[in-house]
Amino acid sequence: MNAKVKCANPDCSCVPADGKEFCSDSCAVAKDRPQLACECPHPDCMGEH
Ligand SMILES: [Zn+2]
Ligand SMILES: [Zn+2]
Repeated sequence: MNAKVKCANPDCSCVPADGKEFCSDSCAVAKDRPQLACECPHPDCMGEH
């Protein structure tokens, strides 16, 4: 278990599943479409929802 891996979306603080770069599809989309707030569904996310 690698606790250092964070979602590749800089606005997001969530931890993706093993082998994943993003915690959710919304973050994967955000890479190509920069946005101010993270739209992932995780309640623990530090990004603004
Ligand atoms: Zn997030
Ligand atoms: Zn994320």
